[in-house]
Amino acid sequence: MPIHILPQDVADKIAAGEVIERPASVVKELIENSLDAGATDIRIEIADGGKRLIRVIDNGKGIPAHEAPLAFQRHATSKIRSADELEHIATLGFRGEALAAISAVSKATLITRTPEASAGIEIKLEGSKLLSQRSIGTPPGTSLTIEHLFWNTPARLKFLRTDATEAGHISKIVTRYALAYPDVRFSYISRGRLSFQTPGSGDRMAALVKVYGAEIAAQMLPVHPATDAISPEIQVSGFVSAPSLHRANRSYIELFINHRYIQDRNLTYAIIQAYHTLLMVGRYPLAVLFIDMPPELVDVNVHPTKAEVRFRQASMVFRAVQRAVHSALQGLAPITRELQTEPPPGPWGQRRQILMQAGQEQTTPGQLAMDLYRQGAHLAGDETPLVGQDTVTAPPRPHPPQPDEGRLPPLRPVGQIAATYLIAEGPDGMYLIDQHAAHERILFEKIMKAAQQPIARQQLLQPVPIELGTQLAGLIAEHLDALQKSGFNIETFGEGSYLLRAVPAFMGKQDPQRLLEEVAAGLADRNDLIGEAREEAIVTTICKRLAIKGGQVLSVAEQRELLRQLEQCDNPRSCPHGRPTMLHLSANALERQFGRLGA
Ligand code: ADP
Ligand code: MG
Repeated sequence: MPIHILPQDVADKIAAGEVIERPASVVKELIENSLDAGATDIRIEIADGGKRLIRVIDNGKGIPAHEAPLAFQRHATSKIRSADELEHIATLGFRGEALAAISAVSKATLITRTPEASAGIEIKLEGSKLLSQRSIGTPPGTSLTIEHLFWNTPARLKFLRTDATEAGHISKIVTRYALAYPDVRFSYISRGRLSFQTPGSGDRMAALVKVYGAEIAAQMLPVHPATDAISPEIQVSGFVSAPSLHRANRSYIELFINHRYIQDRNLTYAIIQAYHTLLMVGRYPLAVLFIDMPPELVDVNVHPTKAEVRFRQASMVFRAVQRAVHSALQGLAPITRELQTEPPPGPWGQRRQILMQAGQEQTTPGQLAMDLYRQGAHLAGDETPLVGQDTVTAPPRPHPPQPDEGRLPPLRPVGQIAATYLIAEGPDGMYLIDQHAAHERILFEKIMKAAQQPIARQQLLQPVPIELGTQLAGLIAEHLDALQKSGFNIETFGEGSYLLRAVPAFMGKQDPQRLLEEVAAGLADRNDLIGEAREEAIVTTICKRLAIKGGQVLSVAEQRELLRQLEQCDNPRSCPHGRPTMLHLSANALERQFGRLGA
């Protein structure tokens, strides 16, 4: 074939291939346009993971009717005029490519009106071709509807993942902007349901609660703009997670430079490093950080998706981020620090001696708890263990328990309250433990450790046919890979039904049908996950299902066993969902509360 120039419509598609990768890329570009138009209210609606429909409606400044068709031309932009304006870009868009690229691979409808105009304009395009244009009554602002994305590029369409996965990518994008622009009211509608709506009040915490939910938001620490003068032009603010809340990967670390979402390995590392030993190896914090600096100190014109930037003073920014995160964390005194530095006062100090000495004599914490229990507490209860079967013959641990980072000291069960919480005594004070959360943590670590080798399966004597509703069956089909890795052996067996041949060996005598149903239902809520995080979500769901529940009365032997297993966890203080497993009232705090200190 001789060399030839590609026709314009082909060139458009190639350019689109660069920027418009998936429905989420469309959503990103449309939101950015709305923000650039000064909108204070942005409504995002999607259907079928954005494949069938994406609609973004804003109350921004609109487009004058005579300019509207131009907006879909390549390199048509109202945001910059000359190359030197690239030096200090104050808008999110500037390439004038997005609408051209999107309309080349979809059926697009633009409805827009400026506040001054008496009527708006509606323009319909199909694969960049203008289909119709008419005057229309509409409130000021802009609405862009993108239907049947990639309908004319089957190769690209095939590349898309399931609706659920694509919806997950979109929700991540919407979340991001909702957090970055708390003064804008974001409404996100997926599958006909309002998924979330931020108040648009300017209060970032309020937006965080709406987007992440109250439970996670409560565990986020505010990062305040630094007051020091080392780099006054670089301001860092936002939220980072308390060490009790963490994830298996870095994807929950979000960075914004001058309100623009960016990816930057160095700055991500700066955040992780600020946690130093507060997090276990392989665990990462959540963070939403906003870095503000004069636009001329950062170059955003490096990458077509504008997600990578270049800093004039990279190390300065690195240090500013590290310092800000560090001081947000500083206010926190993790339990273990107190244990390492100050010996507890009075009777607690003596008790600590006994407990720690016993620990060094290679006594297992379980045995130790038993000894102390014999010494002190008087509790009734039958002695049939429910948690694990190896209560009495627990092998001694190779190393004496050390009060290192996350680990627990030896604990003595004191009793159970509300059939839900255990009270325990340690060398450093009192612990109130949520039995369900604690057991979830125990199971989670057992399974994840086993996962480093393939998870043990238990073949079923007879394959069990499983009937699931179409919705759950779809989810199972979609997560088949991760389920196989988690120890299930499932085969499709006609529409909506499966043959279960093996289950994870740790599963005990659980009803496999119900377990699968619950795992699928749990996954339905977490469809934004991929890879490692998805496997972890499956395990988390399984743990939730298997763990002893609140409201279940535990015998003293069971309580002791639960504590013993919790002591062996690497990260005993939070359940796999990040909720705390325990409250700790330190010896010092107790003495203080009762006015014994300094008396
Ligand atoms: P860019 O954002 O890089 O300028 P786009 O292709 O995304 O390029 O948009 C082209 C132009 O269309 C913009 O410069 C802007 O003038 C106009 N435009 C697009 N979306 C909106 C909107 N929601 N409100 C007002 N004007 C818009
Ligand atoms: Mg744009």
